[in-house]
Amino acid sequence: MATVAKANPQPVPPRTFGTSREDLNPYRIAQLQFDIAAEHLKLDPGLRQVLRTPKRIMEVAIPTKMDNGQLKVFTGFRVQHNIARGPAKGGMRYHPGVTLDEVKALASWMTWKTATVNIPYGGGKGGVICDPKRMSKPELERMTRRFLSEILPIIGPDKDIPAPDVYTDAQTMAWMMDTYSMTLGATSLGVVTGKPVSLGGSLGRNEATARGCLFVTEEACKVKKISLRGATVAIQGFGNAGAIAARLFAEKKAKIIAVSDSRGGVHSSRGIDPMKALRYKERTGTVVGMPGTSRISNEELLALKCDILIPAALENCITLENADQIKAKIVAEAANGPTTPHADEVLARKGIFLLPDILANAGGVTVSYFEWAQNLQGYFWEEHEVNAKLEKVIKKAFYDVYEAARKYHVHNRTGAYILAVGRVADATMVRGLFP
Ligand code: NAD
Repeated sequence: MATVAKANPQPVPPRTFGTSREDLNPYRIAQLQFDIAAEHLKLDPGLRQVLRTPKRIMEVAIPTKMDNGQLKVFTGFRVQHNIARGPAKGGMRYHPGVTLDEVKALASWMTWKTATVNIPYGGGKGGVICDPKRMSKPELERMTRRFLSEILPIIGPDKDIPAPDVYTDAQTMAWMMDTYSMTLGATSLGVVTGKPVSLGGSLGRNEATARGCLFVTEEACKVKKISLRGATVAIQGFGNAGAIAARLFAEKKAKIIAVSDSRGGVHSSRGIDPMKALRYKERTGTVVGMPGTSRISNEELLALKCDILIPAALENCITLENADQIKAKIVAEAANGPTTPHADEVLARKGIFLLPDILANAGGVTVSYFEWAQNLQGYFWEEHEVNAKLEKVIKKAFYDVYEAARKYHVHNRTGAYILAVGRVADATMVRGLFP
């Protein structure tokens, strides 16, 4: 670790956010999280500037023919935050609320995440401002192919490797891989991860984010002396991360008492069967209305009395406004950026054990790394091998973070940032400045 300093008191985030409300801009939040760690590490001011700023930002116009014959121009972004430790790596988000600042934040969180789990990547992220729920599959395919083609000069298996994120999936990755390969004139499996298994994807990748979240929660339960068997779990967001987490936690005999999606949530103190919830959502488009449950709002879900709360949707759901109402003993952040820095302080004061996003959802990028490694060597692993390697990486990262937090007398998020920022700072210094 670079320039490790003595234990410091936790610096309180500066209240320069305005008088009554927090600044919820995700990029400024990401920079604040970095600044807190940089302060602990006593990083050189010049190095801080390098590490807190994205290396490269690309904004593109994506003209797309819609099914009704009209042309629509979407806006897309790809941000490479840092590549000191390896190629940029990070998902692609399709959502009407995508902004450049959100993509910049997500890209920097990827830099710290890959460093937390110590895999040889930097951080990147992409997004398109669009409403995929209102687009047909052919429209999504045309938009995806044109988007990839626009950002193609900065993408590649040793430059920047996209993956799925909110409202993108294995099919999206297949189109991206095909577009890149057709342009290149050769099949390039390693250009994206999260591909279908029939197209060079890795066994275990689909479940990896949720499985990693389970692995770190298991260790947190040991620390907090909570039995996962019978523990009550509330999950916000019922997509790749949230729905699969519900299944994996239920397999460990935890009781899923609430789940939600963008349309609202459902609660049952007797427990919700995740497979039934999934089938119900597949049929109706939402978990809301599932038989045997009562309806609750996303806000009520977050405030439920439970052992484990898993935010698995979008940013800024635990803020200064509701942090005091959180009653969970463990918060495992499957989503990126669900908790603001001020809310972090409130949770820490309440003794809540936080598993920060850059650790708790790093299972996804870890198995993406395994997928990429399998693609580059052209030799594929069994699913149990993938899961065993994931467990090893994630559990080591958990204890690295836990130790850093104890050493510096900080909460786990800052512990994770100290670990990650130290590793990236080290790599940056040892590489030196070009030219
Ligand atoms: P997804 O598209 O599969 O699912 C998103 C879910 O969130 C859906 O159920 C949707 O209905 C719900 N949702 C959307 N807006 C909501 C709102 N306002 N309130 C409540 N629920 C809402 O996406 P995903 O891949 O599961 O990603 C979820 C989170 O996990 C994101 O923060 C993402 O960045 C993070 N993440 C995903 C991966 C991955 O491998 N997919 C890896 C690391 C982190």
